[in-house]
Amino acid sequence: MLFTELELSEQLLQAVADQGYQTPTPIQAQAIPVILQGRDVLAGAQTGTGKTAGFTLPLLKILQDQPIPQKPRPLRVLILTPTRELAMQVFESVRTYGKHLPFIAEAIFGGVSINPQIQKMQRGVDIVVATPGRLLDLIQQKHVDLSHIEHFVLDEADRMLDMGFIRDIRKIITLLPAKRQNLLFSATYAPEISALAEQILHDPVEISV
Ligand code: AMP
Repeated sequence: MLFTELELSEQLLQAVADQGYQTPTPIQAQAIPVILQGRDVLAGAQTGTGKTAGFTLPLLKILQDQPIPQKPRPLRVLILTPTRELAMQVFESVRTYGKHLPFIAEAIFGGVSINPQIQKMQRGVDIVVATPGRLLDLIQQKHVDLSHIEHFVLDEADRMLDMGFIRDIRKIITLLPAKRQNLLFSATYAPEISALAEQILHDPVEISV
C-alpha cells in the first residue's frame, strides 16, 4: 500500500514525502481510514510502530476538511500523553505533519514555567498535546477550555494508568463534550485498560499490530 491510496490531502502527502516515508506502517494503514470515517478506535500499538502519524495525519485531514472556525479559534483536538518527553515528541510530529497547513498546535506539560504556556494558549490553538496534571492546572486557571473538543486521543494509556493518572483522566473526560471522537492507544491490555476503554469509547474499531 502507498500513502497516496489513503484519503489524505496534498499538503499531508507532501509532509509525509518530506519525511521520506513511502509506505504506511501497518498501524497507519489500519487506523487512518477508520479515523477518517470518524469512528472511535482502540489500538494496541507500541512506540516505534508509527502510531503517532497514524492518528495525527487523519486528524489533521479532518480539521482541514472543516470550515475555518470563527475567532477566537476553539481548541478542537486534545492529545493526552503520560510524560513530558512523549508530549514533546507528539507535538513535534503534529508540527511536522501539519507544516503545510495553517493549524496551531501547542504542548503543555509540567516541570517548566507555566507562563509561556498561558501566553501561547491565549493566542488561540487548534491542537493541544498535554500531560494531565499541567493541563488541569491550566483549566483551573481558565486558560484552557475543553468545551469545543471534537477529537480526544489517549496515547500510551497503559503508561498513564501505571503512572497514577486515572483520576486526572477521569476529571478531564468530564470536561469534554459528549459528542466527540475518541482514540485510545495502548501497548498492553490490562483489565484496567478495558475498563477505561469501555468508559471512553463508543463502538470502537479495534486494531492491533
Ligand atoms: P512512533 O511509533 O509514532 O513513535 O514512530 C516511530 C518512528 O517511525 C518515528 O521516528 C517516525 O518518524 C517513524 N515513522 C512513522 N511513520 C513512518 C513510515 N510510514 N515509514 C517510515 N518511518 C515512519
